[in-house]
Amino acid sequence: MNAFPRLDAATRQKFIDADAALVGKPLNPAENCVPALQANARHMALMLLDDPSPARAREVAAFAESLIDASLAAAVTEPIACAKGCGHCCVTYVSCTFPEIFRLAEGVRGRADAEARVRDASARAQSIPQVYREVNRVICPILVDSACSAYAHRPVVCRAVLSLSLPKCLAIFRDGLRVDFAHATGTEAIRGYAVIMLRAALIVAGLPHQNYEMTHALDIALRDETAEARWLAGEPVFAGVAVDRADIADSHFYQLAEALASVVRQTI
Ligand code: SF4
Repeated sequence: MNAFPRLDAATRQKFIDADAALVGKPLNPAENCVPALQANARHMALMLLDDPSPARAREVAAFAESLIDASLAAAVTEPIACAKGCGHCCVTYVSCTFPEIFRLAEGVRGRADAEARVRDASARAQSIPQVYREVNRVICPILVDSACSAYAHRPVVCRAVLSLSLPKCLAIFRDGLRVDFAHATGTEAIRGYAVIMLRAALIVAGLPHQNYEMTHALDIALRDETAEARWLAGEPVFAGVAVDRADIADSHFYQLAEALASVVRQTI
């Protein structure tokens, strides 16, 4: 964990009280979301720093996931092409933060068939460099009968992939054509906000905050029930898991998360 000067309890509580109107409430990308980003990132950072729960990484991920679900439900008004039984996009490269991995593992653990598929997919994913993953597909091991079998535990990025066009999805994911994904309006912004807030909280808490290849990380988390506790204690539980190549220090997400973290750090 990072050591940095904390506010006294009374001053910190003033921020917490002021945040109450914004924490967990849907984000509206048509409005100025900066106060909500700070409030929700502060909330998650305090969970990680001060909550003694051994499941606090999962709890932070669950909070971010419920926030993105509420925000998407409020913001998306166009007819969505996605439906249960349509899993075309679940063949693409997926990366996420480690709290999301622990949460996904919670939805998979104990299902021997799924755990075996994760092991196989992890081995395959490790053998294919990320730049070749779009031509050497690794079908997500959580996908069963073209539906997500851990739907309530799926990562933030999976929740925000809402398409307006099945033909475009087929062109991209089935036919391998260079076509722009038909994002529903506002979904990219909401996903960005959720990711930046979660990552800012992790930065403030002194924990790894980047996005990592999902299947390899999930495989490791499933093999060790103490993984979350060890990770929270600073152990290199996921050593060897590849960072998403798009997640570099000069990327937009990276810099915004760092900027949000620097603001939040001064208010807790
Ligand atoms: S976790 Fe679920 S939604 Fe995400 S890629 Fe896998 S099957 Fe699809």
